[in-house]
Amino acid sequence: MNADEMKEHQRRLEMELALAAFTLRMHTKLTANMHKGGRANWQQTQVHDLFSRLDEEVAELQEAKWSPERAHDFAKYAEAIANECADVANFAMMISDWYLERAKQIQKQNESTS
Ligand SMILES: [Mg+2]
Repeated sequence: MNADEMKEHQRRLEMELALAAFTLRMHTKLTANMHKGGRANWQQTQVHDLFSRLDEEVAELQEAKWSPERAHDFAKYAEAIANECADVANFAMMISDWYLERAKQIQKQNESTS
């Protein structure tokens, strides 16, 4: 491996680690809320309500950005920001899953009627 390939490999590895850390955070927050019903619950929710929850989570993230904690304990502040980012990502994932599931159902219906 030459120097450029090593740099590229390092960049790729750093990206993979950041992504893995973030998806782990999403997973931790989702499993902590399994008592709410998990996938079956968000699939039964009106998608409009999932969009509303996404908006609320974005507002929480914006609010966390201005937390006075920033000046006192930056590590705690960064954790709070990261957790709100995971909430936003989880609701975006649920909306994505909601639509893809309906697309699958429509495709199945079309296949059975054609
Ligand atoms: Mg939140």
